[in-house]
Amino acid sequence: MTELYDLHCHSTTSDGDFSPTELIKRAAKNAVTTLALTDHDTIDGLAEAKMCADELKITLINGIEISTQWEKQCLHIVGLNIEPQHESLQKIIHEAKIMRQQRAEKIAVKLEKKGISGAIDFVQKSPIDGMITRSHFAHFLVSQFHVSTLQEAFDRYLGDGKSAYVSTTWTPLETVIQAIRDAGGIPVVAHPLRYKLTTTRMKKMLTVFKNAGGLAMEIVTGRYNPDEMRILANYANQFELVGSVGSDFHSPENQWIDLGRLAPLPNSVKPVWELWK
Ligand code: AMP
Ligand code: MN
Ligand code: MN
Ligand code: MN
Repeated sequence: MTELYDLHCHSTTSDGDFSPTELIKRAAKNAVTTLALTDHDTIDGLAEAKMCADELKITLINGIEISTQWEKQCLHIVGLNIEPQHESLQKIIHEAKIMRQQRAEKIAVKLEKKGISGAIDFVQKSPIDGMITRSHFAHFLVSQFHVSTLQEAFDRYLGDGKSAYVSTTWTPLETVIQAIRDAGGIPVVAHPLRYKLTTTRMKKMLTVFKNAGGLAMEIVTGRYNPDEMRILANYANQFELVGSVGSDFHSPENQWIDLGRLAPLPNSVKPVWELWK
């Protein structure tokens, strides 16, 4: 059987449209053989995903996508093959949950000032004891006809510097990398080009990441073209990082590519899965 890896996606436990079970079923339909569920700052979907994955003979990699702070930049670090209950991770998850709750309340106040009420009730109801993300606010704004698309919700209200944007100080990058390593996992820089770093800053970030114990970076993700993949492969080799592949699938709608529908990892890069084989 041909192996097909997808090592980054989201369920209803954070801001995805599908439950962990529905997600695994979709992965199976798309011929994915190894899937990592990587919800934002939570591991709560992994147990359900594991049950379904066992049934459908898919290998589930325990994953998480953690929001971190590097200088003034929020960076997403995926942790692959983690021990989910490890105390180092649990501490970060607990702190992230508090920060997300506090941020949500502030976002709701900002929306209130724009004459938009009811946001906090909506977002608190949607994730079942999950993580409140800006996507939940975007869904609220669409459902109340304040905007017509999720993208417009970010462009007008929720995006960095927009009218309902609230800045957050996430757990420092180095702390998160260490916690993932302590939990037996592999720290991966998620979607490295989405932060729009200059070349100098990208190299600085990868140096810090590597020195702190980082091991991998995503080379193939939904929105990258072949030129961008080549750039990323060069960075991976320069900084001696292995490469990962992940759709970042959230929903069949919008800009997200479907599970498993990714270009193969370039031959020049060592695959992250060799670290756990
Ligand atoms: P948060 O971690 O709560 O700040 O939310 C970030 C999430 O919002 C991301 O993981 C995306 O799923 C979503 N998101 C961020 N920017 C956009 C955008 N411009 N359009 C649509 N979704 C976005
Ligand atoms: Mn998301
Ligand atoms: Mn991300
Ligand atoms: Mn993601």
